[in-house]
Amino acid sequence: MTAEIERSAHAYCPACNPDPGMGEPVTALCGATHPFWGRRERPVNNCPACEAVVTESVYPCGHTGGER
Ligand SMILES: [Zn+2]
Ligand SMILES: [Zn+2]
Repeated sequence: MTAEIERSAHAYCPACNPDPGMGEPVTALCGATHPFWGRRERPVNNCPACEAVVTESVYPCGHTGGER
């Protein structure tokens, strides 16, 4: 997996990472941590682990999803 796909495909908790800086390490919902380079509008591939977590009502970090 390339870094470009990796950074485009993961989902993040907006409560834990409300405004990550460019290049700042952030932890995705699946637990993968990598530098944040901005959200992609049309990710080519979605991380299946992140997608599964997004469908849950509560994220692993304890925050609730689906509010927006
Ligand atoms: Zn992921
Ligand atoms: Zn959170």
